[in-house]
Amino acid sequence: MSEASTALPTRDQIQAEYKWQVEDIYANEELWQTDFTNIKKDLPKIVEYKETLSQSASRLAACLTLRDEISIVADKLLAYARLHRDENTANAKYQALVGKIEGLLAELGTATSFIEPEILAMPDTVLASFRLEQALADYNFYFDNLTRQKQHVLSPNEEEILSRSTETTQAAENIFNMLAHADMTFPDITDEDGKVITLSEGRYRSLIMSADRQVRKNAFTGLFGSYNSLRNSFAATLTGNVKKNIFYARTRKYASTIESALSDGNIPLSVYTNLLTTVNNNLEPLHRYIALKKKVLKLDTIHMYDLYTPLAQEVKFNITYPESLQLVRDGLAPLGPEYTTLLNKGLTSGWIDVYENKGKQTGAYSWGVYGVHPFVLLNYNDRLEDVSTLAHEMGHAIHSYYSQATQPYATSQYTIFTAEVASTTNEILLNDFLLKTTTDRQKKLYLINQYLEMVRATVYRQTMFAEFEKGIYYKSEEGETLTADLLDEIWHTLNAKYYGPEMVVDAEIDVEWARIPHFYMDFYVYQYVTGYAAATTLAEKMLHEGASAQQRYIEFLKSGGADYPITILKNAGVDMSTSQPVELTLAKFSTMLDELELLLSKS
Ligand SMILES: [Zn+2]
Repeated sequence: MSEASTALPTRDQIQAEYKWQVEDIYANEELWQTDFTNIKKDLPKIVEYKETLSQSASRLAACLTLRDEISIVADKLLAYARLHRDENTANAKYQALVGKIEGLLAELGTATSFIEPEILAMPDTVLASFRLEQALADYNFYFDNLTRQKQHVLSPNEEEILSRSTETTQAAENIFNMLAHADMTFPDITDEDGKVITLSEGRYRSLIMSADRQVRKNAFTGLFGSYNSLRNSFAATLTGNVKKNIFYARTRKYASTIESALSDGNIPLSVYTNLLTTVNNNLEPLHRYIALKKKVLKLDTIHMYDLYTPLAQEVKFNITYPESLQLVRDGLAPLGPEYTTLLNKGLTSGWIDVYENKGKQTGAYSWGVYGVHPFVLLNYNDRLEDVSTLAHEMGHAIHSYYSQATQPYATSQYTIFTAEVASTTNEILLNDFLLKTTTDRQKKLYLINQYLEMVRATVYRQTMFAEFEKGIYYKSEEGETLTADLLDEIWHTLNAKYYGPEMVVDAEIDVEWARIPHFYMDFYVYQYVTGYAAATTLAEKMLHEGASAQQRYIEFLKSGGADYPITILKNAGVDMSTSQPVELTLAKFSTMLDELELLLSKS
């Protein structure tokens, strides 16, 4: 192909119907500037409320309302600048606008920083009487959420010391990042074409999936050899991070670090411990998957470096964008007529920026703009995963749309815990639809393989991570030292337990804990599992329960951040405090294994 035909189009070469309409936020830049100037003028008005919030309910309401009004406009200003910048990240004009609005947001943060400490300092009886006033009705949940952790807020002096400590306590994570992403060197290995290449994290991801066993083995040995050479340093950075979190949890008088981490979303500890127990009770399907992989790949023994090898050949689907719209419409039809109507509106009303162009931000995201509509960035390229991404991001977009159209600003923002439920439900429904309607054997094998790998990586692997985290925090809180040897041993034992009797747990894998950046976001990864299990449960309900389940689902999307995530999900019909959602997910995994075995036997 000639240079011209493979080059990326410039933005003006893309047809308008495939571009989002940022002018729905501001028709032109003058209007942006006007709002920017107005907000700057409003900021000092907020500070006038300082030290007076406890005077009356109306004063408190006026202050909170002003903060929301300014925030709504600031959100619009930021979205306009950022969306335009992402159209072409090299565009200096929008880089400058982003810089301006980011500066203003920092000022807004400083100007409003007195509000929450002042509310928390009010006597309970005063706040309780204020909350009876209609003017504060929109802030009911906000006050509940703010005051529930009052016992963990320290004196102003202590809070100031804590806030100044963060720059130094951040060191462990910074050193981890430098070690892993700047200083680490990887060996040269031979790739599938016999070429000598230098290994990197990015290359590892494709090399470990290679059909050539020697290549994936070399990549595996090379990668973990590098981590192993720095194992004591990584043990020190991980220890530093664990100790940091223990320090803050104890200083804030939490019973344990895990309880401190879960308290942010008001997630009961039982949700976490139930998850570990339930997955541990359902490891058999994963063991069966490993045994099947060994059989299909015709291996004498299966090793850790065989884990990522696909059971099916990669199939090119070549789905054009108009075809993908139809697939997404059909796949999401079980969500009901109301959802479908809104979906159609979203797909045809300038929400989506479809194709890649020169300078465009890579990847995909959804961005809800309060009072306007959501925007979705794609880099659509005719692959099956691009269709999944469209379904996923429309899940976020419609969640934002409903939340923002239903909730006052104060409760319009949903939490991470529920965010990925709305997007993953769509992905699962689309995948189920594709599996039901695909007759080509090769394509079907590929789809099942994708599904099994998704559950292995999201449910089993992330639960193993969550179990590791709980274990090392417990040990450290009990005073044990987290040496590289101890971390290796815990990791090895977990791998042996999760992957089961057929898997040869090679010694190289023992240091894998050193490579996981998520261990620097304490007690975060379990949400991948809970989110996926909740989505699987909701998708099942849509397929089998019809209108009543659809109505509850819409209510879930409309509830935004109006309650705690566990309550919101319970209202939608998923009780995350029980083992049911995870059990259902792993039972489905098991059924798909049966289907794969059946399909393979018919070859
Ligand atoms: Zn997402």
